[in-house]
Amino acid sequence: HAPGENPQINEENKRRHLEATGKRVMTRFPPEPNGYLHIGHAKAITIDFGYAKHHNGCCYLRFDDTNPDAEEGVYFDSILEMVRWLGFEPWKITYSSDNFQKLYDFAMELTKRGKAFVCHCDKETMQAAKGNGRGTPTACIHRDRPIEENVREFERMKNGDYPEKAAALRMKIDLSSGNPYMWDPVCYRVKTTPHHRTGDKWKIYPAYDFAHPLCDSLENITHSLCTLEFVEARQSYEWLCDALEVYKPRQYETARLQLNGTFLSKRKIRALVEGGYVRGWDDPRLFTLIALRRRGIPPAAMLRFVEELGVSTSDSEIKLQRFESAIRQTLELTVPRLFVVLEPVKLVIENVAEDWSHTVEKPLHPKIPEMGKAQLTMRKHMFIDKDDFRITPPAEFSRLSPGKSVMLMGGPCPVTCTGYETDDAGNVTSIRCALENGTGPNGDKKFKSKDTVAIHWLPDTPEGKVELDEVRFFEPLFKSDNPAKLENYTDDINPDSLKVYTGALIEPAFFSLSRSLIKQAKDEAEKRTKAAATFSSSNVDAKADVKVEMGTN
Ligand code: ATP
Ligand code: MG
Ligand code: MG
Repeated sequence: HAPGENPQINEENKRRHLEATGKRVMTRFPPEPNGYLHIGHAKAITIDFGYAKHHNGCCYLRFDDTNPDAEEGVYFDSILEMVRWLGFEPWKITYSSDNFQKLYDFAMELTKRGKAFVCHCDKETMQAAKGNGRGTPTACIHRDRPIEENVREFERMKNGDYPEKAAALRMKIDLSSGNPYMWDPVCYRVKTTPHHRTGDKWKIYPAYDFAHPLCDSLENITHSLCTLEFVEARQSYEWLCDALEVYKPRQYETARLQLNGTFLSKRKIRALVEGGYVRGWDDPRLFTLIALRRRGIPPAAMLRFVEELGVSTSDSEIKLQRFESAIRQTLELTVPRLFVVLEPVKLVIENVAEDWSHTVEKPLHPKIPEMGKAQLTMRKHMFIDKDDFRITPPAEFSRLSPGKSVMLMGGPCPVTCTGYETDDAGNVTSIRCALENGTGPNGDKKFKSKDTVAIHWLPDTPEGKVELDEVRFFEPLFKSDNPAKLENYTDDINPDSLKVYTGALIEPAFFSLSRSLIKQAKDEAEKRTKAAATFSSSNVDAKADVKVEMGTN
């Protein structure tokens, strides 16, 4: 019979599958633990876990740890932490490496069935035989070895008789196919790096095209959800399950998230980190999930964004503005507003007494009174932001400049600039102004607050302001819209993407708010630590979490 066409075996596989799943939907999220997850993975997580949840099914977190070269313990921990941060809980946590023995047995069975062969071609020869991706493939000289020889050679591979690259087990599929995935893909290769979980037990490791379909089959996955670049791989996926006469899951492909202004590839992100272009995997200019969390983006905004993208079957580049708008919509109703003066410049109100004061009751949120209020007292001596004043304002500038007026947010009346001082270098060191009495500068025009822009301010008193050691402002890391398309993306890096302000001021409510944020972050970290206690290699760092949440809020 042709593979997969034995009706009895198909029936039996189906029966066992339904028994194992209890007819539930089974999905999996299968990251390779070779880096930190990025926003593209958030899309995959939402689809994989969300689809299962919608159907009352189960979703595995499967660490696809079949390549010992790039895997590290911290990635396992962080991946689980990020799945939970997004609000999902794996039904089971599994490791492809737990199946190494079964996968080896499958490969041996495939070899004995005459559907796999040991190949000694080097990479170039293999590529050339495949017509370098074009043309028609040719059979390599090892393709028609007798079965017994392949069995013997595969055992030798397993026993460590071959150094890396000297031998590989390949599926023997179909060189006449129009689909390159059918041109005898590699099942097993020799690797001498010790494995994160299995140490040096194995000298050979399964390739993705071999391990992935079979792990899906072993876990009784009903919907193997993946991205569009795997459409062609589906044919060899199904061939393999059929050739071994095992349960064959159905693969479904959806668009990969591509975000303008950045790239989503662990390999390239790693190059940015290792090249020192950013301060680490959690640098807020990156789109890793730990960076987004550090920036203060709540999981709800991530989910909103992914949900609005929907599931589609054509790739498209998504504008960053769509992500930003999802963030804004989420934060809009949850985040308190505080006055900040990034680069303080002195402001003196000349026409009030030295002990003049005006206390402002500031709502912490313009639309949500329940968030409470903070008190702030205006004085004769204040600080405003350097950027809110121009000696010679450009036409569209509507904040403070000589002779012009501005509202100090929440103040009784506008102030009008009457003068300023500069240092030798021409930097403004102080600004003088007059508090209006309800009329215009010449007493002829009533101010309407809508005509006057309002700016942040803070009083120059010890209790009226908090000095911040460092405020970091992040601009996009790349100059162009699509660094992913560039050969040399490092040339596209924006040299001014990080601006550091020292000595910025913020209003005192920051203390109480940050205390409650720290508490909240601690509670959450504790919850996660508890939940993660069952997870073998966990080292969730509660302290790091607090730092992270603090830095952003
Ligand atoms: P990378 O190139 O960043 O390493 P990957 O696809 O190799 O990405 P995996 O860790 O193997 O990363 O991915 C786990 C799952 O996440 C896969 O199912 C993969 O298809 C999905 N995924 C990865 N990147 C994206 C993306 N940009 N959009 C949607 N899904 C993605
Ligand atoms: Mg992958
Ligand atoms: Mg990858």
